[in-house]
Amino acid sequence: MDLREYITIVPDWPKPGIKFKDITPLMNNGEAYKYATDQIVAYAKEKNVDLIVGPEARGFIIGCPVAYSLGVGFAPVRKEGKLPRETVKVSYGLEYGKDVLTIHKDAIQPGQRVLITDDLLATGGTIDATIKLVEQLGGVVAGIAFLVELSYLEGRSKLDGYDVLTLLHY
Ligand code: IMP
Repeated sequence: MDLREYITIVPDWPKPGIKFKDITPLMNNGEAYKYATDQIVAYAKEKNVDLIVGPEARGFIIGCPVAYSLGVGFAPVRKEGKLPRETVKVSYGLEYGKDVLTIHKDAIQPGQRVLITDDLLATGGTIDATIKLVEQLGGVVAGIAFLVELSYLEGRSKLDGYDVLTLLHY
């Protein structure tokens, strides 16, 4: 199956000059969504993961079906002010903006093998911040999985030393 057929490129969104890769057509197609999820599940099995962690909101869309399929937990990484209990936080730069990400302090047990999921790797800021949160809590980043990688933004350079799976490259 060619997953590329299910990604729609939206020019000048959310800002002029950005070619946004819209993954909603992929999620909207049951076969394509399952095909993509199954590949990430196989990768997660290879890496022996105990927990999935994903940043809001599309990291949930990728990570939750993987957690369900493996029978492991999912811990959400959210923007500041969204999680109700004690958190740790990291600030980071985006392809288009700046923000703070947080995770509940008790979401990861030290030594747990974590798979981080997101829809797309752009500059790598979001994933770099997510890695820092996982490691602050003593988690081991066993792998990182994306549907899409924008290779021209060189986000990979922030992920040196980590094992990364991407299903599609632009
Ligand atoms: P980064 O932090 O620059 O790597 O940006 C990645 C984050 O921004 C991910 O959480 C994506 O959901 C979002 N993002 C950036 N560009 C796109 C895009 O073209 N399509 C979908 N999401 C994007």
